[in-house]
Amino acid sequence: MTESSKGTLYVVATPIGNLGDLSARARDVLASVALIAAEDTRHSSRLLRHLGIDCPMLSLHEHNEASRVAPLFARLEAGEDVALISDAGTPLISDPGFVLVRALRERGARVVPVPGACALVAALSASGLPTDRFLFAGFLPARSGARRARLEALVTRDETLVFYESPHRIRDTLSDLAAVFGDRRLVLARELTKTFETFLDGSADTLLETLEADPDQARGEFVVMVEGAEQTDADTDGAEAEGRRVLAAMLGEGVGVKQAAAVTAKLLGGRKKAWYDLALSLKADG
Ligand code: SAM
Repeated sequence: MTESSKGTLYVVATPIGNLGDLSARARDVLASVALIAAEDTRHSSRLLRHLGIDCPMLSLHEHNEASRVAPLFARLEAGEDVALISDAGTPLISDPGFVLVRALRERGARVVPVPGACALVAALSASGLPTDRFLFAGFLPARSGARRARLEALVTRDETLVFYESPHRIRDTLSDLAAVFGDRRLVLARELTKTFETFLDGSADTLLETLEADPDQARGEFVVMVEGAEQTDADTDGAEAEGRRVLAAMLGEGVGVKQAAAVTAKLLGGRKKAWYDLALSLKADG
């Protein structure tokens, strides 16, 4: 059997609220595959009915995902195309699918993304927080002790932090964010692409007060974003001292200035040109 006669697994993003966000390509793929693997077949059958698509479905969720690998691989080997969808947004992003995709790739199957809505990307894109670097940390632990510990481990990160949160825990999470992050700026994106879409901006304490004053603001689905920590002089000084040591060691071993600067930038971050200038001055000083 030639490679092209085998089927493809399409990882298809579906809307996170507004059905208009389903792409034309996603619709075509869902209409053409032999089978749709869905997190919750009852939930997704409503979307398929809305699209006028009648296709066999198979449930694929965290409890049965591993056992679905072999039968789905067999379908692909037999030349059938399969789509993977989750309840909302992009599969595998805080949703099932990772076990399947990894196993299929390991077996040489063709896996193709059909991109579309994703709550974290939608939230970030309109948040006004820096988006050049961000850390998506998924859902925080349900228990407060573990949640605080996770937050404390992130408090010095200087990239924007992004979390998913449910309405049941949003208040508790904001309390823990207040305890750990103090006055740090947060943006709360709620009910994205839906009628009551809201962006709230402020410290965790301010946002808690807003939610207490208007309980409607605590309903629905949330993306919580936290501005990254400011780089302190101590961080900068520390990185420079470390860079000096690394550069001096490499120069001492006869590594060229350009290569030493490139390696230091890779190891410690920062601009290659700045490390290059420092390496030149170290070399000049002997
Ligand atoms: N796979 C999805 C994606 O691509 O974003 C995420 C699935 S995860 C199980 C569900 C969480 O995503 C929700 O608890 C919420 O934190 C976030 N989320 C999903 N839809 C959202 C929306 N319309 N507005 C805000 N957050 C949303």
